[in-house]
Amino acid sequence: MTLSARITFLGTGTSSGVPMIGCTCSVCRSSDPRDRRLRPSIHVDVQGGASILVDASPDLRQQMLTHSIARLDAVLFTHSHADHILGLDDIRRFNFVQKSPIPCYATSSAWENIQQTFHYVFDGMPRQGGGIPKIDVHDIDGPFTVAGVRVVPVPLWHGRLPIVGFRFGSFAYLTDCSAIPDDSWPLVAGVDTLVIDALRDRKHSTHFTVAEALDAIAHIAPRRAYLTHMAHDLDHAGTSARLPTGIKLAYDGLVLDTIVDTS
Ligand SMILES: [Zn+2]
Ligand SMILES: [Zn+2]
Ligand SMILES: [Zn+2]
Repeated sequence: MTLSARITFLGTGTSSGVPMIGCTCSVCRSSDPRDRRLRPSIHVDVQGGASILVDASPDLRQQMLTHSIARLDAVLFTHSHADHILGLDDIRRFNFVQKSPIPCYATSSAWENIQQTFHYVFDGMPRQGGGIPKIDVHDIDGPFTVAGVRVVPVPLWHGRLPIVGFRFGSFAYLTDCSAIPDDSWPLVAGVDTLVIDALRDRKHSTHFTVAEALDAIAHIAPRRAYLTHMAHDLDHAGTSARLPTGIKLAYDGLVLDTIVDTS
């Protein structure tokens, strides 16, 4: 079965965000709101109510307030880099509002790093005063179902680090990748809407360039594709003007309608 869903881009910037602290380049000084990029994250709002967050960025609090997201059924982590996990502490508010732990999903190797970074959440020590986020830890080791929604993890290379993207029915989100393993192409075959990493034009060891992202998009051949995780090298208007038809730069606040699979 399928359900309609609404994808909101909560952040489309690289790890430093755009504008960057202390930078006076034209993109960092741009008055175009689409050149202001928080750290990378999306929200999947499924018809019937399931509310799924992909990654917990350092800007999570601001992103939840901006988009009036008051409930989370699950948080899915693509990997354990700081720009994707540092918002984890703010899950506390959802614990309070929902009066329950929040199910969180990551690969076992990502969990090892998350548990080191957030040692106080996982060390089991009693604490006085301020609370800690209460999360239900789930390992990703194949397709799974959260809040009735089918999720297919898509293994990716982020430099030498193995990470995962996620496919929800006709939509796939592949952030932070520099190569797609042979076995992962079939996992994204036939998607209608593809979101993919495109850091900048200059080669980078752990992220696709715009040209490399366009190659991957041509291979997957979705109806439409959006680039994300952009650095300040890419201005929205100028970069958009040179992209092929059907391919756009994502921007913070962009909303897409799509179809997800149920269990
Ligand atoms: Zn990142
Ligand atoms: Zn700049
Ligand atoms: Zn990363």
